[in-house]
Amino acid sequence: MSNRVQCVLCPHLCILAPGERGRCSVRLNVDGELVSLVYGRPVAVHVDPVEKKPLFHFLPGIDVLSIATAGCNLRCEFCQNWEISQAAPEDVSPYNLPPEAVVEQAITYNCEAIAYTYTEPVVYFEYTRDTAKLAKEAGLKNILVTAGYINQGPLTELAKYIDAANVDLKSMSDSYYRNICGGTLQPVLNTIITLKELGTWVEVTNLIVPTLNDDSRELDELARWILENTGADTPLHFSRFFPMYRLTDLAPTPVSILQSARERAIEIGLHYVYVGNAVTEEGMITTCPECNEVLIRRQGYIIEENRIENGKCFNCSAPIAGVWNGTEEQ
Ligand code: SF4
Repeated sequence: MSNRVQCVLCPHLCILAPGERGRCSVRLNVDGELVSLVYGRPVAVHVDPVEKKPLFHFLPGIDVLSIATAGCNLRCEFCQNWEISQAAPEDVSPYNLPPEAVVEQAITYNCEAIAYTYTEPVVYFEYTRDTAKLAKEAGLKNILVTAGYINQGPLTELAKYIDAANVDLKSMSDSYYRNICGGTLQPVLNTIITLKELGTWVEVTNLIVPTLNDDSRELDELARWILENTGADTPLHFSRFFPMYRLTDLAPTPVSILQSARERAIEIGLHYVYVGNAVTEEGMITTCPECNEVLIRRQGYIIEENRIENGKCFNCSAPIAGVWNGTEEQ
């Protein structure tokens, strides 16, 4: 008996000898048993507005208890949270916060949801699943902020407890995924489709990195893929890159690239396209796809005005896709 085990959580499908860890560095073979090294051990615990996830069509204005452990199954060279995502568990100082304590904290701080975020909830799967289950029983919502690099079985198991997700779609190029992120494209596309099919509210984020994935044809292809696979009502967030981790030689994304990507995605047919990490008025507002009235105006992560009434446009009564304080329009 070799006592080797295979982890089936993500497409890396690591086969581990005793004492060996997976590529995410947080899952270890202990005498033939796969053990999570980060269960109940978050390194980040914060209260954030839901807009920061970003989710713009899911209960606007609510506070969300956001947690993350160390570790990630991707190696994105632009990672904005690399100090914790690329850290091994022994390199960080975690809190001791079992699932029931996370739920208690959320209630104490008047949060209506818990977000599994910042690093990659796929690699702390059991912690996410158990916390989300308890949170649901307590009447809280659960939010997954993920790169979507997960196998279909675990995803389906987790999705039972997840109300909303923001999935990073980093590029439509498989070679970009392989060369810049240490993964592959197709599993991420599968994740977006599966979450949508399972009834999770889904928004998509694309970080535009100058010279690497800012080609207009590729950005248009991404918008078209969303239109054809999850529909015009799926919100898309184009996010601005800032020099970070292994890409400190690159300049921040020019705001004009983000704005023109947004304009073209709307021309392609998407109803809700936003610009993140940059100050642009039009990139932060939600407008009615029927009558074009401004419905939600945001200043940073603050809601200045919300004119959606019972899930509909205040002006023309067109249904607005999203989950709106008790009303759901998908
Ligand atoms: S979650 Fe970690 S251990 Fe499991 S397959 Fe992915 S990288 Fe390997």
